[in-house]
Amino acid sequence: MKRIIESYRRRLATEEGWTLKRGTELRVALCYPNTYEVGMANLGFQAMYELFNRIPAVACERVFLPEDAEMREYEKARTPLLSLESQTPVRDFDVLAFSISFETDYLNMARVLRMSGVPLWSENRTAHDPLVVMGGAASTLNPEPIADFTDVIAVGEGEILAPKLVDLIFEHRDSKEELLLALARVGRGFYVPSFYDVTYTHDGRVEAYTPNVSGVPLKVGRAVAAENPKEGSLRRAIRRGDLDVANSLRETDVFAPSTVIWAPEAEMGERFLVEISRGCSQGCRFCWAGFNYWPPRVVPARDVLAKAAEWRGKTDKIGLVSTAVCDHPEISEILQGLRAMDYRISVSSLRLDQIEDELLDALVESRDQQIAVAPETGSDRLRKVINKNL
Ligand code: SF4
Repeated sequence: MKRIIESYRRRLATEEGWTLKRGTELRVALCYPNTYEVGMANLGFQAMYELFNRIPAVACERVFLPEDAEMREYEKARTPLLSLESQTPVRDFDVLAFSISFETDYLNMARVLRMSGVPLWSENRTAHDPLVVMGGAASTLNPEPIADFTDVIAVGEGEILAPKLVDLIFEHRDSKEELLLALARVGRGFYVPSFYDVTYTHDGRVEAYTPNVSGVPLKVGRAVAAENPKEGSLRRAIRRGDLDVANSLRETDVFAPSTVIWAPEAEMGERFLVEISRGCSQGCRFCWAGFNYWPPRVVPARDVLAKAAEWRGKTDKIGLVSTAVCDHPEISEILQGLRAMDYRISVSSLRLDQIEDELLDALVESRDQQIAVAPETGSDRLRKVINKNL
């Protein structure tokens, strides 16, 4: 156990920006079901850390699946899984909030629960066990494989769901059953699997969800953050030259997910990542991101550049995160601002028909070796069928 604690403290010493709050009313263990190197490169995970810790009554600490050497130490010491910040047993937290981006991590989620000593099946948990919440892209997209291990599945965006979850936990501290009912009855954003009977067709597809308690919705809607300006509204205002409207959209107070912990030992740990937009207006028929994050929203250039300026003292590498970077109505302003700060820029993905010289110049100047484009198929006919019109 001593070795595990020492290795966690060594890791913390390499980082900047982490938080350790003591004496708060609610403790949340934010679990990434993969190793530290992978988890710390995940912007959604970092965003949830920031969102929970912004709430004064909440202390949020990180938990990762141990790497091989750490795993051997855990097995040797027969120690339950510990949080990174305070090295507290995970099972002592009030809430275990998983951030799951990939279905392949579902198995790791079960390993984290087992290593923590928290009952694997939700029906075996008592009021003394932590509340197990799953969130993230994978669990929103396909919750059923993990439904039996889960008390609550968060459906939608963390900016809305984290404060709502915390409020309801405080309102229903004395009864887990009442808390689950209250969450399910919100109607949007919280799916409580134990309140539904699920039937399947003969080929294994979900046929129907039937509530087994009253007052819960037949269908759980996703919760969407509404503060960010809509991409289309800002583009139209800029195109029309309507500065009043454009400026009022830009002035909205938005939450922009970005790196909050400087973690040089993680994948892409020396790069400052910032989300510049969410969702996509192109409407490709197969694309989950386009539908799930509808309507497409942006982080105004002003906010992206302000964050970039704060981080410039630590790094000269920045990654712009978006489903379609060039769709941002202020992409030119963002690139010019970042180049003026002497940033080396990389981008998450580009549409083939939107690659402008200005962006290529910025990438060449940054000595970025790669771009990702997705033509999907070599056939124009098939591209029309899937509505990917390049
Ligand atoms: S352009 Fe890309 S992100 Fe947008 S809908 Fe099509 S596949 Fe999805």
